[in-house]
Amino acid sequence: MYAIETLPRQVKLKRIALLTSGGDAPGMNAAIRACVRAAHAEGIQVYGVRRGYSGLVADDLRLMSPPSVANILQRGGTILKSDRCEPFRDPAVRAQVAAQLREKGIEALIVIGGDGSLTGAMLLQQETGFPVIGLPGTIDNDVFGTDDTIGFDTAVDTALGAIDRIRDTANSHDRLFLVEVMGRASGYIAAYVGIAGGAEFILPPEQAVDIDQLSAQLRSSQKAGKFSSLIVVAESQQPGRTQDLAAQLSAQGFEPRVCILGHTQRGGAPTGHDRMLASYLGAMAIRYLLAGQSNIMLGVQHDKLLPVPLSSVVHGHKALPAHVLEMAALLQKRSAPPGG
Ligand code: ADP
Repeated sequence: MYAIETLPRQVKLKRIALLTSGGDAPGMNAAIRACVRAAHAEGIQVYGVRRGYSGLVADDLRLMSPPSVANILQRGGTILKSDRCEPFRDPAVRAQVAAQLREKGIEALIVIGGDGSLTGAMLLQQETGFPVIGLPGTIDNDVFGTDDTIGFDTAVDTALGAIDRIRDTANSHDRLFLVEVMGRASGYIAAYVGIAGGAEFILPPEQAVDIDQLSAQLRSSQKAGKFSSLIVVAESQQPGRTQDLAAQLSAQGFEPRVCILGHTQRGGAPTGHDRMLASYLGAMAIRYLLAGQSNIMLGVQHDKLLPVPLSSVVHGHKALPAHVLEMAALLQKRSAPPGG
């Protein structure tokens, strides 16, 4: 259960808007539902913006009602749809968007998305004074200022389901598998999936791979009688990283199989954890707006929901904690076989 603050009501609000942006993440719908329901309880109208910032630019807003968010809590994706919107990077477009919102009598905007979306949100408020609150929604868990993001837990669980199945085949055929998970710049999914899936090796994007060392470790496992191995590889910024690694391992005499989980990690029903996180964040966004706060993202730190200035979210860098990789390394170590 999250610890939350009691907030004084400082302002009256009549009308706000809400959007999901960037990569979709399971739990975004639960957050939408929570925002709409919590706002309705306060007599605030919520306008849903279709397709993220593209919908803001195109003025594609629709009034949402509590029934319009019924039966979406358990659904992956986002009913508001998401998008990537290049024009929104232009300050003139952001000024136009703020004017359009004000014209409609909309007083604040809630943005659910990742690092990029939160950057856009920060710039919108900084440049135009239009009040914005961000909620971290991304499977990558790479948003600074929060321990957790909407969708991360589900993505880890989804990847683990695949890993467990691949492990059956790897064991049955004494095979080496390279399983690629999402994570261009962040090793959170790879590390969590690697630890919880018992992978023999984890290759986060931050880490260069020493193929000779990896081969030597695989050979020593084989010498110890273990022929099946599972390596979790983060996709990284380098296209084809996993295929390249497989080619390099083949050149060393191994017969690796590659499985790229890709977009299967994005969708699906959110876990209970993500539904709780999204529900609390969505409802608390309304309370923070009523307390007169904006230019913040709501995050979780040590199970406490708290506001973090958008500027520190955007300018901070969330690195994988050292203990995660230490734990992975500790659990990957195998003791020598008896007499070996
Ligand atoms: P995510 O929010 O999942 O990190 P992106 O990085 O693709 O996804 O960003 C989503 C959208 O946010 C972009 O298409 C763009 O509209 C907006 N955005 C991202 N970065 C910026 C930026 N530096 N300035 C303004 N808008 C941005």
